Amino acid sequence: MASSLRSLVNDDSRYQKCFQLFLERSSEHQSMRDFIHNVLPDILGSIGNGKSHLNIIGVGSGAGEIDLEMLSKLRLKYPEVTVDNEVVEPSGTQLQNYKALVSQKPALDYIKFSWNQMTAIEFEEHCKAKKTTKKADFIHMIQMLYYVKDPGATVNFFRSLLDKNGKLLIILVSGESGWEKLWRTYRTQLCNTEISQCVTTGDIKSLLDGQRVSYRSYELPSQMEITECFTDGDEKGELLLDFLTEVLDFSKTASPELKAGVLELLRHPDCSVESNGKVIFNNNLGVIVIDQLT
Ligand code: SAH
Repeated sequence: MASSLRSLVNDDSRYQKCFQLFLERSSEHQSMRDFIHNVLPDILGSIGNGKSHLNIIGVGSGAGEIDLEMLSKLRLKYPEVTVDNEVVEPSGTQLQNYKALVSQKPALDYIKFSWNQMTAIEFEEHCKAKKTTKKADFIHMIQMLYYVKDPGATVNFFRSLLDKNGKLLIILVSGESGWEKLWRTYRTQLCNTEISQCVTTGDIKSLLDGQRVSYRSYELPSQMEITECFTDGDEKGELLLDFLTEVLDFSKTASPELKAGVLELLRHPDCSVESNGKVIFNNNLGVIVIDQLT
């Protein structure tokens, strides 16, 4: 059944509010930082083939906190290189936030930022129209493949931009997370059919396996506190519910049956653990790294 519920992504201002609260209530960015600190340096170790200039593309960069974190690791690995950093991000608000963050950080003059206020597909069309031959050494798409129509096609297009030894890094919720359980049960009632919102690293791995593309993968433990979702009328709980379901004003627009079912599943042991009166949702992340070998 196609859902009559409206998708949260159609309302950028509410989406950004929900996302901000999600970051406050979860260990999402901390889990990514641990990965960037402990694992990413090795991954970056083999890009570039000794070049003095590296091309990077960030797709769906948001406010750029995680992107700048990765760039600083790259700097440690390659202190002499200059970097061309293409940012592909449709939200004007997030691009402004990213620019503001860049202006506060000292010593980023080795990076040339190119701001592309567009979706991944628009960027693809833009590259094709310009007949771009520029290849990239590192491309990342972190928590963004939910927002494209055909994640497999988007992954393949960006893979085609990789230079030899280039790497494509994908982060999405893990196939072992509470998100997967929520989506498996309520996919047809919640998910926007225009764009494939319910996608996990499990789905991307199946796509890559089907094409015999090799990759490395990692699981990052992460949690999200969702206690407020269970207090009727709680404003923050409603924002978190919108974020979890990706439905705009879920509490006010979903049928009572759907709402009750979702709330029950959210605190079910498949999705969450309860301790000291808190409900902690399994927000585990998956990372996939694809190498361009040829
Ligand atoms: N990578 C950041 C932000 C993730 S939120 C982080 O992990 O913190 C998802 C981001 O994808 C948002 O900034 C959103 O504006 C962007 N986005 C939404 N639709 C997109 C699309 N079709 N193509 C590229 N980015 C998109």
